[in-house]
Amino acid sequence: MFDWVLRNARISDDAVRVDIALQNGLIAAIEPAGGDLAEAETAEKRDLNGRVLLPGLVDIHTHLDKTYSTLENKSGTLGEAIQVWHKHREHRTASQIQQAAERALQNAIQNGVTAMRSHIDIGTPNDLLPVEILLDLRQKYATLIDLQFVTLGTAADKPEWAAGMREALDMGVDFVGGCPALCKDPKAEIDAAFVLAEETGKPIDLHVDETEDPNMISLEYLAEKTIKTGMQGRVTAGHCCSLGFVDDEVQRRIIGKVAEAEITIVTLPSCNLVLMGRTISPAPRGTTPVKKLLAAGVNVCAASDNVGDPFNPFGSYDLLQLANLNAHVAHMTGKTELYESLNMVTQRPRISMGLGDGSIKVGNQADLVIVDCTQKLEAILAPPARLATFKQGKLIVETEVQTKWH
Ligand SMILES: [Zn+2]
Repeated sequence: MFDWVLRNARISDDAVRVDIALQNGLIAAIEPAGGDLAEAETAEKRDLNGRVLLPGLVDIHTHLDKTYSTLENKSGTLGEAIQVWHKHREHRTASQIQQAAERALQNAIQNGVTAMRSHIDIGTPNDLLPVEILLDLRQKYATLIDLQFVTLGTAADKPEWAAGMREALDMGVDFVGGCPALCKDPKAEIDAAFVLAEETGKPIDLHVDETEDPNMISLEYLAEKTIKTGMQGRVTAGHCCSLGFVDDEVQRRIIGKVAEAEITIVTLPSCNLVLMGRTISPAPRGTTPVKKLLAAGVNVCAASDNVGDPFNPFGSYDLLQLANLNAHVAHMTGKTELYESLNMVTQRPRISMGLGDGSIKVGNQADLVIVDCTQKLEAILAPPARLATFKQGKLIVETEVQTKWH
């Protein structure tokens, strides 16, 4: 007997409807609608009436420890965001951090997000309260969302900060993080991340080159270091904005190295449209060259980054809206490109997070979202309501949409 049969679902671009059976957390069968599965023995069933079923959405770059702190950044610059944040950071209470992170997780799950990676600011070993809180939340939400964490600190500048990151990694944080372009010596910061990765056996996820300065291309050094240390496929680089400000030849050279190093690139269009280009006229978009990276075979993902904090006042952990924004910003408007932007918040980040290929096929984990539209392309053109989210084959949240005309 199956746990669920979802009838009359659309999972691809064509008009064909399918019935899908879920069992023991996995997709157990997919058949054309109206076949044997329609009458199969099942604990629960639901008729989608031709609505679209998507793989669970993935938010591969967030900041759960900063979110919903609602602090004003008057200039909108990255510099003021950092200043405002550090002033506030020391005075936060445990319940403030926990409540905001839970609100974020619940919003994400309601929006169909079934996996997320969050960076966590790390200070000294005595300053790991956010790590403790988020590790507890990972347990509390374990049946609802896969959570991975990254240490966001500066390991090279001060030994006590490296000690704080080491401690956080020992406690269970999954990735070595950092922000090389904002440190005195970006290369030393990248080296320090690789030292921690080697010591702990953990992969790397860095904030890279979040600047409009074409001379700040630490991404190239990161790619070279990745290849030299045999870390191919185990490094993620978020932002990479300055790659969009160098000339074509330099861009080609760096992108070639990034592809060879198998680095996952994460574009963060909402946050970077807010922060970048504040002092440049005409104002640029400020995002990484997504289409050129994809064309070179790089795994490029899109994610929320900051939501409701001094770095970015916008956002709601709605990854379909984010994929829609990415398609605008990266000029991905052809049909194939639109589907690729959808992949950037579903299959691509899932692969990078080591959670399988994320496609809807027999044997894959049943992380699925029913969306309120009847053509797959609509899911990205005009993000519809998420009607129900399944995590490992269990229905975890439903939303009802009702319109009344008078
Ligand atoms: Zn970030």
